[in-house]
Amino acid sequence: MNHFGSGELETAVIQSELCIGCGACVRLCPYFDSYRGKTALLFPCAVEKGRCFAYCPKIEVDLDAITRFLHGKPYDGNPLGHHRGIFIARAGEKVRKQSFQAGGTVTALMVYAFRSGNIRGAVLTNRKGLLPEPRFVTRSADVYRASLSKYTAAPTLSALNEALDKGHGNLGVVGTPCQVTAVSQMRMNPMDKPGFKDPTALVVGLFCTWALDFRRFETFLAGEVPLEKIVKIDIPPPPAQVLEVYLEDGKREFPLDRIRPLVPDTCGYCPDMTAEFADVSVGVLEGRGDRNTLIVRTERGERIAREAEEKGFLVLEEMPRENLEHLQWAAGNKKKRGFLRSREAGKVNGEPGKTLFRLAPECLDGVFQDR
Ligand SMILES: Cc1cc2nc3c(=O)[nH]c(=O)nc-3n(C[C@H](O)[C@H](O)[C@H](O)COP(=O)(O)OP(=O)(O)OC[C@H]3O[C@@H](n4cnc5c(N)ncnc54)[C@H](O)[C@@H]3O)c2cc1C
Ligand code: SF4
Ligand code: SF4
Repeated sequence: MNHFGSGELETAVIQSELCIGCGACVRLCPYFDSYRGKTALLFPCAVEKGRCFAYCPKIEVDLDAITRFLHGKPYDGNPLGHHRGIFIARAGEKVRKQSFQAGGTVTALMVYAFRSGNIRGAVLTNRKGLLPEPRFVTRSADVYRASLSKYTAAPTLSALNEALDKGHGNLGVVGTPCQVTAVSQMRMNPMDKPGFKDPTALVVGLFCTWALDFRRFETFLAGEVPLEKIVKIDIPPPPAQVLEVYLEDGKREFPLDRIRPLVPDTCGYCPDMTAEFADVSVGVLEGRGDRNTLIVRTERGERIAREAEEKGFLVLEEMPRENLEHLQWAAGNKKKRGFLRSREAGKVNGEPGKTLFRLAPECLDGVFQDR
């Protein structure tokens, strides 16, 4: 792998507007910080190879190396990534009834993972007003408070770095695909730290087509609704084409054409819709806003999901094949768009320290052909 330092990260990612503000470079050292959705290098640092660069999901991401690390197989460009099974899912009777984004599968998995001792801490995303707030929690009761999607990009992984700095391990992490990519790079021990142990025990990925830039979104919504009255925001699956804002006293809808300009440009380079490097990935089931699509990817993800089902925390149903067609198409489409944009910018298998992705050229060709 090609490793560089914070200077190269600042030039190639932050100044080039590729930063998604995931927080993976924040709280590793005093130099990087995140403020209201923006990440900044506060002072120059002389370290030539830093964890900040190695963890960042927007520079030198070796897709083959990550896939081999997680699955012992090469990256093959499959629209949905490597997986062991795909299910319709929702929270079971052992999970407290409250408002979830969809079926509550993410909350159910995290609550079960705590209760069963599979995890001893979890990195989640809360919100204060519209501002997403990274949270490290050590009790299952706190998982409930973090439910619901914050559709803005969030510096969630700064909370993971803080937890690791304090010596916590056996962690659950919930994140978007870019955050999960950063987590997978952390798990690979890129700096060859002696005695390194994977700090994660369950990584739950969220499907993501795009996120919103916090500052742009806040400015937009402040002109439309009283921000303090927002209780939930939702982007129902197609064909809805709206962003819904649920208020204490009603609901407003905004056509996605008005919302898309608030998406940061970096999401256009992103080829991963379903968090391919997670243990399990969760999205909204198309046509059923109260259910989730659950993609089970790794052995530990499968074990925990099955245990959660047996113990009444999760309800799983087989996913009918025909239900998967649109998801496959959408994920494949995002992959093609992301790689095309990255390739056009010279950021696939390009110059060391400047390229975004590395993958086998024949695999890239396969992505551009219809599968
Ligand atoms: C930016 C974004 C874009 C999304 N786009 C899609 C999409 O295109 N298609 C689709 O099917 N689903 C999408 N989702 C996922 C979907 O909104 C639900 O999160 C998912 O289906 C889980 O539902 P649930 O009922 O299990 O969640 P809940 O049980 O309510 O739990 C939600 C979990 O999400 C975490 N979370 C919330 N916001 C963030 C954030 N910004 N960053 C990291 N973690 C967060 C919380 O910590 C919580 O644990 C997106 C989510 C986000 C955050
Ligand atoms: S690690 Fe995350 S926050 Fe830091 S530069 Fe990269 S994308 Fe931005
Ligand atoms: S589209 Fe990609 S880069 Fe943008 S928030 Fe989603 S996972 Fe991250």
